[in-house]
Amino acid sequence: MPSFYFQTFGCQMNIADSDDLRRELLCRGYDETSDPLCADLLIVNTCSVRENAETRAKARIQEFGRVKKNGAKLWVTGCMAQRLGQRIKEKIKTVDRVIGAQHNSDFLAHLDKYLPKYDHTGVPGKLHNSPGDYITVMRGCENFCTYCIVPYVRGPEVSVPASEVVSKVARRVDEGVCEFTLLGQNVNSYRDGDIDFADLLKMVASVPGVRRVRFTTSHPKDCSEKLIKTIAATSSLCRHIHLPVQAGSDRILSLMNRRYSLDHYLGLIEMIRRYIPDADITSDIMVGFPGETDDEFEDTLRLVEKVHYTTAFMFAYSSREGTAAASMKETVSEDVKLSRLKSLIDLQTSITKKIYDSSVGEEFEVLINGRQEKRERLWMGMNNGFKKVLLSCDSAEAGMIFNVRAVRSSGMTLICERITK
Ligand code: SF4
Repeated sequence: MPSFYFQTFGCQMNIADSDDLRRELLCRGYDETSDPLCADLLIVNTCSVRENAETRAKARIQEFGRVKKNGAKLWVTGCMAQRLGQRIKEKIKTVDRVIGAQHNSDFLAHLDKYLPKYDHTGVPGKLHNSPGDYITVMRGCENFCTYCIVPYVRGPEVSVPASEVVSKVARRVDEGVCEFTLLGQNVNSYRDGDIDFADLLKMVASVPGVRRVRFTTSHPKDCSEKLIKTIAATSSLCRHIHLPVQAGSDRILSLMNRRYSLDHYLGLIEMIRRYIPDADITSDIMVGFPGETDDEFEDTLRLVEKVHYTTAFMFAYSSREGTAAASMKETVSEDVKLSRLKSLIDLQTSITKKIYDSSVGEEFEVLINGRQEKRERLWMGMNNGFKKVLLSCDSAEAGMIFNVRAVRSSGMTLICERITK
């Protein structure tokens, strides 16, 4: 039986795309191998968001080109494949095919054309030993934030028809999945005729067997009251809203072309807290955007204090060739960026700790994701917001849901005990 090896770089959408492609290969009778040296087909699904991600992917592709066995094929997919196209083949001669992220649907045609089909043993089951799965509901982005390469490589927004999303979810439920994360660059601008993202969430939540639904990522300009009310009213929709703010100053937000003001953003936070008081709100925050002054960075710290995010993904600006911000003069030195990033991380870590510490004594449901390595009785899970949980328990399994009480906090995990209700 021929075998394939998959390496994925980048975001959750790339992981979801890789899973879809892996399924297609398994359906066609290929075996998945964990050893690239044995594979008949090596696929590298690439990311373009940062230069560093492209550098790592290129190094991996070159390495595969050197070590792949005689006759093995090397294919490159994803965002870097979209951005650089056939130039990858010119630079790395061992690459056989390049399929850009906007042409994922051509992958099957490439499979049929270039690789033989084998007797298959049926539709593959779950690809991961986890109760959760990602479902891409829309692709592309039209927001053109000035620092971001995504609109150039992923193209305009395209929503997956709601009926397709729902039937995919139902199939995954049959395979044992109970928690779904709906993915898109900007899920809350989802649209299928009259169906908006809030409607789609309700449709997915009502598929029999679905226990939890999450989504990422949202753009503050498209976050509606209807969406927040829908989450508040539907118990299987998780109390977690990821609402990337990026910066705490209106001037920097405008330079980033984020298309909302700080007042608008804080209004959304107030609305979320009003309808879902226990919501975990998380964010993406960037420091050192071209032109960011010390005072404007202080504005970001003040915003973080005010919102009290449960956690945040924090990073320093790095210029990305091909974006509008790449032509802006960089004014913040690498040292200053790193020192601002450290101050921001220190502040957010102390807020995360306060939030976790104040949750001690609370009772909630936890969905078990898996066992902690090396510790037999210790299980990892999540509450129905975005808090990590450790549970000591004799007989658990990934996918089980328990009622628990938080008895201790490590500052970034709640240590819980089971309770009966
Ligand atoms: S919303 Fe902005 S940051 Fe997000 S993918 Fe689109 S352009 Fe990039």
